[in-house]
Amino acid sequence: MKRVLANARIGVIRAYRRARNGHAKSRIIRVIIVGDRSGLPERLDPRCVYVLGATTHKWALLDCPCGRGHTIELNLANPARTRWKVTINNAGQPSVHPSIDYRGQPRCHYWLRDGRIRWAPNGRSAAEPQR
Ligand SMILES: [Zn+2]
Repeated sequence: MKRVLANARIGVIRAYRRARNGHAKSRIIRVIIVGDRSGLPERLDPRCVYVLGATTHKWALLDCPCGRGHTIELNLANPARTRWKVTINNAGQPSVHPSIDYRGQPRCHYWLRDGRIRWAPNGRSAAEPQR
C-alpha cells in the first residue's frame, strides 16, 4: 500500500512538471546514496538524486524534471567519459556540474543548482508535444 501511494505521488509530480512544460521551478531536494542498483526503488523519487556507490561514487541517477518519466544517468567516476560532479550544500540540497544535457527527442537541457532546476533557453526541442 505504501508503494502504491509513493507511485501515485510520483505520478502527480510528473504530471505537474509536464503541465508546466518542464519550466516549472522544479526542485530536487536531496541526495540518496545507495551501494548499487539493487538499492534503487522501483521508481525513482522525482525530487531526489540517487548516487550509486557507497565508497566510490560511480553514477548519479535522477528522474528527468521534464516529467516525461525518463531516467538521466550521469557518469561520476569513469575518466574515459564525460564526468559530472554532485555536490551538496549545507541544507542538503544538491548541485550538479556541468549542466545536464539529454540530447534525446525532445532535448532536456538544464542546470541543477542548490536543489533548483534552471532550464537552458534552448533546453527544449521544437518537437516538444504541446499538452
Ligand atoms: Zn527530460
